[in-house]
Amino acid sequence: MSGGSPIGGSLIGDGPVRIAGGGPTAALLAILLHARGHAKIDLFESRPDPRLRGAQSGRSINLALADRGIHALKTAGLFERLGASLLPMRGRCIHLDGGTVFQPYGGRPNEVIYSVSRLKLNQGLIDIAADLEGIRLYFEHRLDAVDFDSGTASIHDLRAGRRLELPMQPLLACDGAGSTVRRRMVEAGIIAVQEVDLEHGYKELSVPPARNGDSAFAVDALHIWPRGNFMLIALPNDDGSFTATLFLPKQGCPSFESLRDAPAIETFMSHNFPDALAAMPNCVAEFKEHPVGFLGSVSAGPWHASGQALLIGDAVHAMVPFHGQGMNCCFEDCIEFDRCAARHSSWQEAFSEFGAARKPNTDAITAMAAENYLEMRAHVADPKFQLQQALSLELERRFPSRFIPRYSMVMFHHEIPYRTAQQRGAVQAAILQDLTAGAVKSMAEIDFERAEREITQRLEPLG
Ligand SMILES: Cc1cc2nc3c(=O)[nH]c(=O)nc-3n(C[C@H](O)[C@H](O)[C@H](O)COP(=O)(O)OP(=O)(O)OC[C@H]3O[C@@H](n4cnc5c(N)ncnc54)[C@H](O)[C@@H]3O)c2cc1C
Repeated sequence: MSGGSPIGGSLIGDGPVRIAGGGPTAALLAILLHARGHAKIDLFESRPDPRLRGAQSGRSINLALADRGIHALKTAGLFERLGASLLPMRGRCIHLDGGTVFQPYGGRPNEVIYSVSRLKLNQGLIDIAADLEGIRLYFEHRLDAVDFDSGTASIHDLRAGRRLELPMQPLLACDGAGSTVRRRMVEAGIIAVQEVDLEHGYKELSVPPARNGDSAFAVDALHIWPRGNFMLIALPNDDGSFTATLFLPKQGCPSFESLRDAPAIETFMSHNFPDALAAMPNCVAEFKEHPVGFLGSVSAGPWHASGQALLIGDAVHAMVPFHGQGMNCCFEDCIEFDRCAARHSSWQEAFSEFGAARKPNTDAITAMAAENYLEMRAHVADPKFQLQQALSLELERRFPSRFIPRYSMVMFHHEIPYRTAQQRGAVQAAILQDLTAGAVKSMAEIDFERAEREITQRLEPLG
């Protein structure tokens, strides 16, 4: 990337910018600030350089990248370089007892989401950052503490075993859902936080390519096995394999706690997911070896400590992964923050305006992501829900300026803020309920004249 800003605007001071974390948010933010002209950016990541390691067993997640994330990468001028290994998924393939049902994600051919390896994306971003003069990457450097009175951050160099005390001026905290900076801000009484732990956890399992080199399932879909209180999903990888994720209660029956030995695991998997189990030769061993991942959401406010530190990305709005938006939302944070920084001459003003404008949107997607769990693990198998899905695409076809399915607003329309998608989505859900109420079972029974009346009365045209 060249030195000029992709968005344009001014520069806040010429001092060093410090970034905690080296995940997708940190790396993209460093690249954007460098492009804006910040010449000294220090990034401190507690783990080793991701370019030197493979995925940790059971932590190799692939992610759904959608329009908001792609738009951010394009705005930063990075999409050409990072987009090569994206695998398009056109819709959900629902695995039910009697076979599969395909539900398209959108009504247009380009309305697809993409499966991408989180590790490869992170490696790609770090690689780009490493090539930029002025960005210094410190791996195995853990931020341990921040002192808001003295304005310093304490970093532990884990390899050399020494501590560094650095002025924050400012500190951009991209240290993820368990953010140390967020905890210190709470302890110092600077912010309030709400953390909700989901009673369900997740475990990764792998689906290798079939023996003849084919894929076990269709590669252009996100596969879901909805089973009421739990579900299995699988996203394709570029070598023909899939990464499957089991979402299940942590306790109770069935749960990760109750499924401990091989017979119990095998019985559970063969009873609930026979076609998936047939494609997972290492299922039982992986089930026993792989850790149970934690799921939860975070909402904090305000997002900053005067001009000293800003929380951004998962550090301030971690969400459950059921809308496939966590990283997309983080990437959108980065370009919005960069735009906001361009309008101000002090970090304090930029932090304050950014947090206040962004929070209603991140609260909205956090809530929609939580709602989507029920949709994925239960509703997708319900014929009434399937009718409403098909109807919402038909209503979009007939009334494109007023009715866009909520899923599409979130996944395919970066120009529609999350909060607007949530508000319009609630009105649309009520209209869909009305039109499919009672004995209505098929599209042929839908009263489209009533649909038109309701839509024109209740939904303003989108600007
Ligand atoms: C099962 C699962 C599926 C998901 N699926 C999707 C999806 O389909 N689509 C999507 O958009 N999002 C998805 N997400 C969410 C996505 O992974 C996150 O939103 C994204 O990784 C957040 O990026 P981040 O850089 O803010 O935080 P992280 O990725 O958590 O990175 C934080 C970094 O900070 C480092 N760190 C932590 N503490 C310190 C410290 N004290 N000092 C220094 N460094 C520190 C960590 O080592 C880490 O590298 C999913 C998440 C999960 C768990």
